[in-house]
Amino acid sequence: MPENAGEQRTGLKVELGVVSSKLCKVVVSGTRPTGALHLGHLNGALKNWVKLQDEARCYFFIADWHALTTEYADTAGMSASIEPLVLDWLAVGLDPERSVIFRQSEIPEHAELHLMFSMIIPVPWLERVPTYKEQQAQLQGRDLSTYGFLGYPLLQAADILIYKALGVPVGEDQLPHVELTREVARRFNRLYGEVFPEPKGLVVDGARVPGTDGRKMSKSYGNAVALSDDAGTVYEKLARMVTDTRRVRRSDPGDPADCPVFKLHEIYSSEEERAEVSAGCRSAGIGCLDCKKVMIKHVVEELEAIQERRARFASNPATVSEILEAGRERARKVASATVSEAKAAMGL
Ligand code: SF4
Repeated sequence: MPENAGEQRTGLKVELGVVSSKLCKVVVSGTRPTGALHLGHLNGALKNWVKLQDEARCYFFIADWHALTTEYADTAGMSASIEPLVLDWLAVGLDPERSVIFRQSEIPEHAELHLMFSMIIPVPWLERVPTYKEQQAQLQGRDLSTYGFLGYPLLQAADILIYKALGVPVGEDQLPHVELTREVARRFNRLYGEVFPEPKGLVVDGARVPGTDGRKMSKSYGNAVALSDDAGTVYEKLARMVTDTRRVRRSDPGDPADCPVFKLHEIYSSEEERAEVSAGCRSAGIGCLDCKKVMIKHVVEELEAIQERRARFASNPATVSEILEAGRERARKVASATVSEAKAAMGL
């Protein structure tokens, strides 16, 4: 597929910061190589990425520089987690023929553009990004007062703008990052002339998948079900997932609207199953474990199919390195053209 094959579509419909992906020409997103992917990644991002491949030119990257912003003190496992990550991507349906799959640190132009942006962006813009303070509070025990951690939304802006993306698939909590990216593009364009389009966030349904403790599923919270978990592990983790706190005893009625387990039913169970467990929950006619078993069965089925496809890709050891090499070539061509354009605009 030629580099600009997705650029035939025109027009961009914008409503409250949400844009139809069908109208986007270029989409960019990345994942940090910080360990096994889980149901939060699968339902919050990956299923959407797979669909986007039919609608836009997609760049999906392993965000290893981003991983350094929080994991800089322990980089031992980072390289080793790249191959498993790419295998997971292939297993869920990312297609290297249609999407450009690459490792961020192999495209130095991302860092170059980040540096150029850092010259023109006021520090308070970064300090007011909500996740800056939130993550500092959540990730206790490590020093996140670094320049890199403060500046990571600016690196994200470079990741997105370097491919002139119009769409960025995100959960709602990430929208401020896309807004910052738009502000960066506007400021650059105002200072040096039109170089960058303003991207929109493609808000993903179901992006906030709850973990076993009810908080957003995240490896750092220790509440995740990994894509590699076997049936027994999935059962063991989800069987102890927190429920509506009103259901202290089996005879206490609950409300699915207040139960994190029901959020997983909304993703995995059929309409009839959801209606049945909802009624059973409200009348205390069903116990929480029986309710969970309905959803667990579907999770296990899906994960077993993913694991089977993954094993097939893993049986060819050259697969991942070849994909990353081809992705690097394709990404670098576009990234270096954009950086040349930006440098010329800046008078460098
Ligand atoms: S019955 Fe199901 S929906 Fe209701 S509280 Fe228990 S786990 Fe949650």
